[in-house]
Amino acid sequence: MGKILVTGGAGYIGSHTVRMLVDKGLEPIVIDTLEYGHREAILNPETELVVGNLGDTDLLGRIFEYHDIDAVIHFAAYASVGESMSEPEKYYQNNISAPLNLLSVMRKYGCKTFIFSSTCATYGNPQYAPLDELHPQNPINPYGMSKYMLELILKDYERAYDFKYAFLRYFNASGASPDGLIGEDHNPETHLIPLILDAIQGDRSHITIFGTDYPTQDGTCVRDYIHVNDLATAHLAALDYIKTKNESVVCNLGTGVGVSVKEMIAMAEEVTGKKVPLQYGERRPGDPPFLFANPAQAKSILGWEASYKDVREIIKHAWAWKTGIKSGKFLQ
Ligand code: UDP
Repeated sequence: MGKILVTGGAGYIGSHTVRMLVDKGLEPIVIDTLEYGHREAILNPETELVVGNLGDTDLLGRIFEYHDIDAVIHFAAYASVGESMSEPEKYYQNNISAPLNLLSVMRKYGCKTFIFSSTCATYGNPQYAPLDELHPQNPINPYGMSKYMLELILKDYERAYDFKYAFLRYFNASGASPDGLIGEDHNPETHLIPLILDAIQGDRSHITIFGTDYPTQDGTCVRDYIHVNDLATAHLAALDYIKTKNESVVCNLGTGVGVSVKEMIAMAEEVTGKKVPLQYGERRPGDPPFLFANPAQAKSILGWEASYKDVREIIKHAWAWKTGIKSGKFLQ
């Protein structure tokens, strides 16, 4: 196989996938703006990092001219639900307009394999759970809408230009690499597990539970937390599938287990042995009450399933990563 262009490869899920591609003897080329990504998250010093934006046609042209790119794994996107509600234009520009430019350069160079970081947010408010891939897609926030729109565009690219795609609809990406070398490092942080661990560590005064009146077992939102390394292995499986079968594929990536915000807090206390300072707040706009996957299709088509099904393991890895950073162990 030729090289694999990984957009957003210095980000959270991207860097774990790049590491795994290198481990499998494949050759990723990373393009990342480094707005949210981290140069040091690309562990292999041989991996080429191009710092730039997908809207830059000349830059993309030079990458495809110079390298024999066989497939694109596309992570680069803005990914905060709350921000997308207040700044939709930013999301549509970055999550649709920039990848459209990438698709056009791919066409020009005859590269037709596109592995896409999609999301369960494309489903919107669930009509049933667990959610399978046939669940209607009615996104309720611009983030989910931007991902859904790119899915629709890719379907047209398949029909008209013979592209093959994988839509990997992630549930809640979480955890860190088990050896603690790379992990979740967003700024600002909006995700539940790192916020809980920050509050435990004293890096923030408390965590606010967004809404306690949802129609769930304890009134707090239920999500399906999937380990970042499990997400990374799914990308490799999808790439292999497209290359061997020459078919597109759509898969939910989750564990199938729903965990509420309150349950998560209790498990974080159990894993760390420390109390989480808590406050109760209003619902966050754009949050569906529950989202958890039926991951059967990923198993039957890709032979993939989550290896970390107990969220305590996810918290354990996230905690090891966080306390490692805190002590300066992994900072260069
Ligand atoms: N959440 C919360 N307090 C926070 C951050 C998140 O109660 O400070 C809740 C949020 O409402 C959602 C769940 O935790 O139900 C997971 O949120 P996160 O932002 O991690 O992921 P999302 O589901 O939005 O992709």
